Amino acid sequence: MIDIELECLEEFTFIGYPNRDPCDINMSGCKNLKVFELKRHRMIAKEWLQPLLHNFQLLQSLVLHDCPLYGRIRISGHHLRCVEISSSNGNLGEYPIVNAPNLELFSYAGDINSFLYSMETSHIQIANFKLYFNHLNTRKFFQLKELLANYSQAQFINLHINPNMVKFQQKDMTSTPICGVRLTIDPTMKLEGRTVEFSIDYQALVDGLLWSIQPEILSLKLDCKPNIQFLEVLCRKLGSMRQESCCKSTGPRCWVHHLRHVKIVWGENTTCDSTEILKLLPAFRPFHIISFQFKW
Ligand SMILES: [Zn+2]
Repeated sequence: MIDIELECLEEFTFIGYPNRDPCDINMSGCKNLKVFELKRHRMIAKEWLQPLLHNFQLLQSLVLHDCPLYGRIRISGHHLRCVEISSSNGNLGEYPIVNAPNLELFSYAGDINSFLYSMETSHIQIANFKLYFNHLNTRKFFQLKELLANYSQAQFINLHINPNMVKFQQKDMTSTPICGVRLTIDPTMKLEGRTVEFSIDYQALVDGLLWSIQPEILSLKLDCKPNIQFLEVLCRKLGSMRQESCCKSTGPRCWVHHLRHVKIVWGENTTCDSTEILKLLPAFRPFHIISFQFKW
């Protein structure tokens, strides 16, 4: 057992070994801790962490990275401004309950889980989501829509998805009540793709994301092949929109019907249309960011 009795301690980071857990640390004397970070632990037991968090009444920032939780932990506190819960392999253990009314920054990496929907999000300014999907289908797109709607007041939502398979079909839309729902991501959503190449149906990804999110601004950094492919498919779709009679008049319409206007911006506020972007594509560099400003 290690006892840390430092009343003046404000920041504490513990990076563990994969086969050991930190439960032999006693920090009950650290009443003024503001930043608490646990990284790379085999498991974190509720019996150890919950009393500790309760003890840190002034805690402002909590990071749990690669720490599977055993037991449902409640993360709460009026001082909490920043919470990061992430797993690089998708194993979060049991999902926590997050009840921090003044949370401003929330970062999460893992599966879509119901605890994300029940959080108090009214003060969140930045939300970072790295969501693991194996098979991203119409139902999952709908879940994504519901999730992001809960964070739509955030100034920045950074979205990183890396599905192995994407399926989005017009006929599946009939089972989901999406008509009349509007979601805006204000002002920036970043779509990042995986760096390893997989055979993703980018047409389905473009249709699914635009249908489910209807972002106000979608920014793509051209630093990986998936983003470039996404950009190409999106620009081709935007270029062919007028001629297209894509879906029947009965039943839910695809995103094309809801789009009123799009402005494409890159570099120092340079605007151009989707056909010009495709022509410019070979000249773009990884640091370039293309932003689509949608009016729905
Ligand atoms: Zn359509």
